[in-house]
Parts: sequence; C-alpha cells; structure tokens
Amino acid sequence: MATTRDEPAAATKRSANVRILPRVDLNPVFRAGILAATSNPFVSRAVRSHGMRLGASRFVAGETFDEAIPVLRALNQKGLRTNTTLLGEGVKDAATTRAVVDEYKADLDRIATEGLRTNIALKLTHLGLDLDPELAYRNVAEVVAHAETHGNFIRIDMEESARVDDTLRIYRRLRADGHDNVGTVLQSYLYRTPADLESLLPLSPNLRLVKGAYLEPASIAYPRKPDVDRAYVDLAERMMIDGGFTAIATHDERIIDHVMGFTSRRGIGTDRFEFQMLYGVRPRYQLDLARAGHRVLIATPYGPHWYLYLMRRLAERPANVAWFVTNMVKR
Ligand SMILES: Cc1cc2nc3c(=O)[nH]c(=O)nc-3n(C[C@H](O)[C@H](O)[C@H](O)COP(=O)(O)OP(=O)(O)OC[C@H]3O[C@@H](n4cnc5c(N)ncnc54)[C@H](O)[C@@H]3O)c2cc1C
Repeated sequence: MATTRDEPAAATKRSANVRILPRVDLNPVFRAGILAATSNPFVSRAVRSHGMRLGASRFVAGETFDEAIPVLRALNQKGLRTNTTLLGEGVKDAATTRAVVDEYKADLDRIATEGLRTNIALKLTHLGLDLDPELAYRNVAEVVAHAETHGNFIRIDMEESARVDDTLRIYRRLRADGHDNVGTVLQSYLYRTPADLESLLPLSPNLRLVKGAYLEPASIAYPRKPDVDRAYVDLAERMMIDGGFTAIATHDERIIDHVMGFTSRRGIGTDRFEFQMLYGVRPRYQLDLARAGHRVLIATPYGPHWYLYLMRRLAERPANVAWFVTNMVKR
C-alpha cells in the first residue's frame, strides 16, 4: 500500500487507540533495586566470580570471539540473523579503546571468512565517549569504514540518557561523512524520543527501537510500563511509515503481533523491518517467528566483561533473578 505524507498523523491517532491489554506491571521497584545493586561491591564480587558458570552463559555466547563463533553459526543455521558485541562500556583510557577497535576489526574479518550472517552492535562509551567524544568518533568511524570494506553493518547501541545527545550527534556525523552502513537505537521510555525520531527521519535512518534498559528518573522517562509500551507502538508505526529500516527489538508478543498486523495492512515488506531479540530470551519464540517467514536477528554478545549486561537482563524479569539464585544455591 502506498504511503502518503498525511499518514503519520493518522497513524499516531490510530495507534493511540491500539489497546494494550492490562497486565501485571513489571515491578518498577524490583527493576530499580536490581539496577541499583549492580554497583554494590558485594553483589558485583559474588556475581562476577561465579556468574558465567551459573547463568551468564544463557545470555552471553562466550568470553572470546572464538567461543562465540559456533553459537553464531548455529543461530544462522536455524535461519536467524545475528549481531555480536564485545561486551564493555565506560572505558576511560585511550589504549583500551584502541584494543576494542582492533578487536572489532578482527571480528569483522573473521565474520567474513567464516561466512556468518552477523553484524556488529557497539557502545560508544566502550570506544571512549566518556573520555573524549572526538576520540569516540574517530574510533567508531574506523570500525564503520572497516565494516564497509566487507559490506557489513555497524549498529550504535543507545546507553543512558546522558549519552543520547552525543550518540545522535556522532551518528549524524557518520552519515554526513558518507557512511551509510551504520544505524543507531531509540528508546521508547524517553519523553524526548518522538522529537529525536522526527529529526532523524530525513536521513532515512536504520533504527532499532527498544523500550530502554537503564534506570532513568521520571523527569525524563516514563516510569510506568503501559506508557512505555504505548510509546513504543506509536514510535514503531512512525518509523515504519517514513523511516528507512526499522528493527523492532522486543520480546513483547503483543507488540510483535501488532507490528505484524500493521506491516501487512500497509504492505511494508521485510526489506524495511525485522524483529530483533536477545540471545537466551524466548529462544523458542525466536525460532517460531523465523519459521513463519519473518526476518529475525538475535543479538548475541560475548566477552569477559559481561557483568553489567547480565544485571540488566536480570532486572528485566523477576523470574530471571529467581533462576540465577536457584543456580547459585544448587551449586
Ligand atoms: C536486540 C535488542 C537490542 C537492545 N539494545 C538496547 C539498547 O541499545 N539500549 C537499551 O537501552 N536497551 C536495549 N535493549 C533492551 C531493551 O531496552 C529492553 O530492556 C529489553 O528488550 C526488555 O524489554 P522488552 O521489549 O522485551 O519488553 P518487556 O515488556 O520487558 O518484556 C516482554 C516479555 O519478554 C520477555 N522478556 C523480556 N526480557 C526478558 C529477559 N531479560 N529474560 C527473560 N524474558 C524476558 C518476558 O516474557 C516479558 O514478559 C535491547 C533489546 C533487544 C531485544
């Protein structure tokens, strides 16, 4: 179905009517508690010393890229696309950021020789954003240029709200410098995101839409899950009508069903969007979607610095903490 310029307003109105069925709110106190506990030295020591064996391996493909390769290949063989990430963030010395750039370039070479359907998602604070935004720009530009030589793609993850301006500035600069094999992420929990999206749409961007994984104050992010979900649907529709490529990154079946209906009614093809989920989260559902003919990508990270990533996954679901603690007790 052809799209017209007045569709976005109509779509926003329609999506306001989308019924998000009431269900148990993901306990915000629980989520805040787990995220706050990540900086507790006792929790950190306990989880870091046993975590990989006790549960992190459910969400992380290995501590080295060599360990991650068979995992990525197995996912590809099941019809799932993948991306990978060398876990790490908040790096504040230039030498470490250099090592990260070199590792990503080596990963891209290896992905090409292994024939994997895998791209890279990275964090700018892993490449020095907190040290010097100019250094982060040079580093990410080097990785993006290297990916270009392999016909590969780089996604810039979105971190805490304090990093959104710098992240979007760097994304725009990469595009202005002629790099088209790069995309970024928007978070539906932030009040600012609809305005950010409008400002990005003229670039025909490749955007991943997520709900948002960080602890943010109510002054800048919706504290209630139904509001985050509603904002997600509105943003997804807007992106898919007027954007370039949209990655619907969620495990939320109601949203995924809604997107399926919306894209089929509007004739939006699989060259314009895909579903993305995390390695270890709802694996059967991931396969079901792929088998039903949908384009599905599994974000499959690796690396020794998995602690913060694991804690964010635990915070997303109370049952994950119970499962993790049970593993510890059974040990
Ligand atoms: C591919 C991908 C990339 C992402 N990149 C970013 C990013 O760059 N920046 C950012 O802030 N956030 C990112 N996130 C995380 C995101 O913001 C959410 O925190 C996360 O996806 C959980 O929300 P949900 O959309 O699945 O919805 P929810 O409403 O939280 O979950 C829906 C259902 O999915 C299942 N589920 C969700 N999470 C889990 C889990 N951890 N374990 C088990 N089951 C679960 C449950 O059944 C739950 O009921 C990313 C997520 C994905 C899938």
